[in-house]
Amino acid sequence: MTLSIIIYLIEMNLVQENMMEKLRNAEKINAISQLAASVAHEIRNPMTTVRGFLQMLKNEKNLTADQKTFIKVSLEELDRTNHIISDFLLLARPETSVTSKVSLSGLLLEVADFMRPYGLMTKVEIRTSIFEGIFIMGNPNEIKQLFINLMKNSIEAMPDGGILEVSAFKRNTTADIQIKDEGVGMSKEKLQMLGQPYYSTKTKGTGLGLMISFDIINRLKGKYLIESTQNKGTSFTISLPLYYSPEEIRQPSFQNMSGGQRMNES
Ligand code: ADP
Ligand code: MG
Repeated sequence: MTLSIIIYLIEMNLVQENMMEKLRNAEKINAISQLAASVAHEIRNPMTTVRGFLQMLKNEKNLTADQKTFIKVSLEELDRTNHIISDFLLLARPETSVTSKVSLSGLLLEVADFMRPYGLMTKVEIRTSIFEGIFIMGNPNEIKQLFINLMKNSIEAMPDGGILEVSAFKRNTTADIQIKDEGVGMSKEKLQMLGQPYYSTKTKGTGLGLMISFDIINRLKGKYLIESTQNKGTSFTISLPLYYSPEEIRQPSFQNMSGGQRMNES
């Protein structure tokens, strides 16, 4: 009897410690994202001033053609930076987890466009083959964050350039997305470490990206598969449940589809 009680107490203690650890990690992430958001916000103010002055300069007479081009390019670059900060702030905002019907096709194209400049820095070309009309249910910002994290890792795995392929199509009741790179790849040991907080092989890495990504996939009730060969590349395949309208669910054909196999197939 005493032994059982002692074992029970030890077990409870372990469970509690585990929970505390998770809580601490969650708090750290929250603090980091809040800090990042406030920094991003602060960068915007001086940028607005600079933009205003450039705008005034632009209207100056006696400017040479070169000077006009410099000002034009500077304004465009400032606008692009502002755009990136806006997107970032959207992501860093504390998670509200409001779900809605999301166009996965549109969102993937958007993220690929967003990541293109980052890829260009190391000559990584992003290719997309994404079927239209794929809808899922979830929080759009979280889904965006998920694909940004994965594409970012793939780009960072190809420091000497390469191709990053993003594809998506419907299969039975799921949307299958693949993010495939030709990067450094991972050994079996490394693969097993993935998703642990602060596990990073990069000097400036946080080791938070994949942890957050796996969490988002879980919340979307999805599955993932990682395949990797060292010095050849890595592919992440993610399978997320498709969105169905209530009418579609009521239709008899849906019952066949959701079974995973067609009933009239012999
Ligand atoms: P970070 O990118 O900050 O290091 P992540 O959680 O995003 O943190 O990734 C953790 C680690 O997983 C990376 O440091 C890297 O070693 C490995 N990794 C993730 N994605 C890939 C990939 N596509 N190719 C090779 N290694 C990867
Ligand atoms: Mg990362």
